[in-house]
Parts: sequence; C-alpha cells; structure tokens
Amino acid sequence: MRSVRLKESACQGCINCIKHCPTQAIRVHNGKAHIIDKFCIDCGRCIQSCPHHAKIAVYDPLSVINNFKYTVALPAPSLYAQYNNLTNVDIVLNALLRLGFDDVYEVSAAAELVSEASREYIKEHRDEAPFISSACPSVIRLIRVKFPSLISRLLPIKAPVEVAAEIARARAMEKTGLKPEEIGIIFISPCPSKVSYAKSPLGIEKSSIDNVVAIKDIYPLLLPHMRHDESQLSHLSHSGRIGIGWSSAGGESAGLFSDNYLAADGIVNILRVLEELEDEKLHGLIFVELNACDGGCVGGTLTVENAYIAATKTKRLVKYQPVSKNHLADNPELKNVYWADDVEYEPVFRLGSTFKESLKMMNDVESLTARFPGLDCGSCGAPTCQTLAEDIVRGDATPNDCIYVLRANIADLSRKIEDLTVNRKGKDSLTEEESQLLDSYIRTLTADLASFGVPSRSGKGDTE
Ligand code: SF4
Ligand code: SF4
Repeated sequence: MRSVRLKESACQGCINCIKHCPTQAIRVHNGKAHIIDKFCIDCGRCIQSCPHHAKIAVYDPLSVINNFKYTVALPAPSLYAQYNNLTNVDIVLNALLRLGFDDVYEVSAAAELVSEASREYIKEHRDEAPFISSACPSVIRLIRVKFPSLISRLLPIKAPVEVAAEIARARAMEKTGLKPEEIGIIFISPCPSKVSYAKSPLGIEKSSIDNVVAIKDIYPLLLPHMRHDESQLSHLSHSGRIGIGWSSAGGESAGLFSDNYLAADGIVNILRVLEELEDEKLHGLIFVELNACDGGCVGGTLTVENAYIAATKTKRLVKYQPVSKNHLADNPELKNVYWADDVEYEPVFRLGSTFKESLKMMNDVESLTARFPGLDCGSCGAPTCQTLAEDIVRGDATPNDCIYVLRANIADLSRKIEDLTVNRKGKDSLTEEESQLLDSYIRTLTADLASFGVPSRSGKGDTE
C-alpha cells in the first residue's frame, strides 16, 4: 500500500507529474492522473512537481494519540531543523510532552546505534563492500524493482526509526506495566516513504511503529509549547552529533568514521549512482549513502523548511554536541539490530512471465516504439513513447492513444471511404451482391472513423 495519492478533484490533467516520476508510475487518462501503485516508490516527487497540489501524502492525524493508554513520540532528527535559532533539542522534546505525548524517544539516538552496528558489519564483511545504506525506504524499493543485482549490497541493518520504535516500546512496557497494544509508538516523519515503511516494513515481518504523523502537521502545533528558558526544561535529549546529523545528506556516512564513501541525494542523482554501481564503475568505496530527497531527510515532502537551510541549522545545532551518546551495549532492549528477513526482487517491470515471453514482448515494444514519433510529448498520458509501447504490450493501452498514430489512421480511413464511395458511384456494372458487399465495407469503415469521434469526410449520405 503506497502513501502518495491523487486528489482527483484538484487534478487538471496537465501531465506535469508524469515527466517527473522516476519510475514512470503515472499515466493521465480521461483528464486525470493515475498512479500505478506497483511502480511507485513513494519518493514524493510528484507532490513537489504538481502545480495544482493534486498529489498528496496519506498519513495519520495527531488524534491517533487518543487510541492508546500511553504514547511515545519518535521525532525524526529533521524535525529539529525546522525551527529557527534552536539551541537545545530539549526545547522540542519538552514541547512534545506538553502537546500530549507521554514520553519521547529520539530517532537520532537509535541512529547512533545503527551507525555503530554499520561500522562493525562493514569491518567484518569488508570483502563484500561497497554496501548501500538501507535507511531510505524509497531507495530500497527502487533497488528491489529496478536494480535486483544490487539487493545483496544493501546493509542488512534495521532503519533507525525501527530500532527507536523497538526500544521505545520495550521501555514503555517496563515503565508502565501496560500491554504492547496499549502503547502507541508514533513516528513524526519527514516523508511519505516512511509512512509506507511502517505499513509494509523491509527486512522484518512487522514494524513496531503504530502510526505516522507528518512533521508539517506537528511543526505549528509545537510552537506555542516551546519554552526556551532552560529552567523550564526536563533533560530528555540523549543524542550526539552523529545521530542528529543523520537528517542531512552525508550524515549517515559521517557516522562510519571513514572517508571512503559516496553520499548522493535526490532521486535523479541516485538513479545515476545505482546505474554506475550496477555497471561496477565505482571502485574502492566501502559505503554508498543514498537519500531519495534533495539534501537528505530534511528535504522530505512532509517538512516545512528549505532543505539546504535546514541542513545549515542542523550543523549549528550539533556544533557543541559530543560525537555520540549511544552504544549498543547499553541497550539490551534491542534484541537484534539486523534484518530478520531477506529483501527480495519485485519484478513489477518485467513484461512477460517467462524469459521467452519477455523477449518476445521486448521485441514488440521495440517495433511499436519505432512507429511512434519519439517526441515523448506525453499527450497519450504516458511519459515516453517507449512507456506507451510497454503499456500496449501489457494490454493497458492501444496504438491509437498516440495522437500522431491516431491522426494517420483517421486520414487513412477517411481516404479509403472516399475512394470506395467514388468507386461505387462509378461502377454501375457491379452485381447486386458486389454492390451490397461494398456498402457493408463502407459502413464498417465509417463506424471505425466514428469510434475515433470523427465523421467521415465523404458524409454518411454517400454510403447509403
Ligand atoms: S501535475 Fe499531474 S496530478 Fe497535478 S494536475 Fe497535472 S496531471 Fe494532475
Ligand atoms: S511518489 Fe514518486 S514514484 Fe510514486 S508516483 Fe509520485 S513521483 Fe512516481
């Protein structure tokens, strides 16, 4: 179940979004966009590119905290970067308690545990490097559907938010004596990708996150609860520079204490890096950090601040923090930091069900594509001529969806009808049977033309 949806009433069918989707998951038919769920990776790019605000992310309202006896907020580190002149993370954490949460556990604290586990894993498996970060669910999904040969390179370690949720629930149970289902673990997310992750996690069967609310919803609600006077603040923050730094591109890599990494952000750059990794063009690296959003999680579509300003604010916020404050050995509640399940290839883009069938369908796509003008104009509702050809081969479109093919077909039919009509008039010598056959053929062609919404040039009267 994906988290990016269309608000149909707002869609103008302008085809802007189809050009920006990195997995070509959008079609526009009958004047409305349509997301093909199995192709979508929840990157949120269509939300940013729609001039009519017709693409939206689906997430939970804050009122979900009323569904539980005890709630723990898991703020993403990108939440802190939304506020101006924030000098102390406790200002935000205390405000979350005043807003109605019973407790808080910082995702940045869990990120430091993931960094420690990553350092250990990479050291022990050095021969298999480079490893790809598994923190961004959109990147993992992109790899699963488009780059199956890179699945084995994914670092098999749970995302910081999952680690945070597990620890937070265990601690809340210990503290309150409540049953697990009476405790609500609520993640405050910068992006729709993590909303989908909570519903369909990767590397584990079920996520410990109960609900996901958006940073952009929480941001204004926290403002009236923020007290800057230190005497009014409980000490709740337990994160260092590494954990909070995870919110910006390059932050996760900084936690590896190595220069031998590549950090890329923005889905277009990521596609390029993944292609180069697949072609084994990137040598000598131990780690590849990839964030689907520009600038990293601070650039998520559920945030409010400009990604690059948010990254600058984060740097200021962590300047005088210790490097790290969290260690795996101090967190016995965390039973296992590694994935329990394998992440598998999802062949959603494969054309046929067997190799032979796929090969034949690929040939069909090639010859169909050659029939189209190659303008990638989007008028057919598909982003490129090749995508339209693939849709046709899958049975989801027809060649006449291309306006150029349609125009040529109409002209051809119109010409045939005209020729036949003229022919009939000049052939008094035809037998009755031949004349009837000719009439029937003209009627069929006229009906074909009408199915394109075009009357015959020769006019119905000529055929009767
Ligand atoms: S960009 Fe896409 S979703 Fe937005 S109005 Fe245009 S067609 Fe509709
Ligand atoms: S969220 Fe991303 S992958 Fe999904 S339809 Fe929008 S642009 Fe395409």
